[in-house]
Amino acid sequence: MDKFGLYENFAPRTRMTLFYDEIYSSGLDRSARFPVDRYSRIAEQVERDDRDGLIELRRPRTATREEILLVHQCDYVDRFLAQDLEEGEIRRIGLRPWKPEIVERTMRLVGGAIEGLDLLFAGMPIAGNMAGGTHHAFRAEGAGYCIFNDLAVCAEIALRRGQAKSVLVLDLDVHQGDGTAEIFQGDERVFTVSIHGQDNFPFRKKSSDIDIGLPKGAGDGEFLDALDHVLLKLSNYSFDLLFFQAGVDGLKMDGLGLLNLSRGGMRVRNEKVFKWRRKLGIPMLLFMGGGYSDPIDHTVDAFTDLFFGAAREYRIALEVGQ
Ligand SMILES: [Zn+2]
Repeated sequence: MDKFGLYENFAPRTRMTLFYDEIYSSGLDRSARFPVDRYSRIAEQVERDDRDGLIELRRPRTATREEILLVHQCDYVDRFLAQDLEEGEIRRIGLRPWKPEIVERTMRLVGGAIEGLDLLFAGMPIAGNMAGGTHHAFRAEGAGYCIFNDLAVCAEIALRRGQAKSVLVLDLDVHQGDGTAEIFQGDERVFTVSIHGQDNFPFRKKSSDIDIGLPKGAGDGEFLDALDHVLLKLSNYSFDLLFFQAGVDGLKMDGLGLLNLSRGGMRVRNEKVFKWRRKLGIPMLLFMGGGYSDPIDHTVDAFTDLFFGAAREYRIALEVGQ
């Protein structure tokens, strides 16, 4: 596929690229409440189970300060880079104890999403980052494990380069994508959708273009019905790009989610999004999102399903030309 005619002689890679670096895990303190090992665990599991050679893991570059400034307020960005955030700001982000490597980790994590975006515009139908989906970050502050909003940074880059006129952010994490919603409030270039648990963090929700807050305990049936409803509605619009925030914290076993999705239901969720994308023929960037099961194995399995599902869809897309 070469939707934008940028690379006429481009030969697509046969493996879907996922950006990953060990700093995604090692850049956070091991004693943090956040499950720091999940990134390295998923990378190991993907490499171990990839008998068909579907996925290529690549180390991303770091994002630049200028790229972050496309979305975030200068004072906040510079104080973060100088390791000079206030205690209250760090507490709201929650990745404590704070460690200096968090700066490189954050910039590399956003860099992974940007490099994924570059691959879409080089003709790949799907690419992803094995981290991120940092949807709680606002322009001038972070929250809920999110420092900079990688979805918003990538949307701005694609729009400003003229590579896309409209971007769809489909956020299926159990927590509302409040940062993304607020950043693009009233901005017609970016359409924000969030299907989440109504009783979950953030407790003061922002307004996405479409919000569906599911009641505590909602299971596969309710979630998938809501998704069908949303995808049908979205078919009335036209988008150049799909950003899928694919958090798996809606799983029944999740420690922070209040929904009851099964691993199978989560797979069906992903398939519905992939098939919808294929019908529209638009490129898709995968952002990982949340997952906090205890033990973390359930989260690791669900993300492994996600990435292999996307990689199989990538193969199909190469074969059918979209
Ligand atoms: Zn979440």
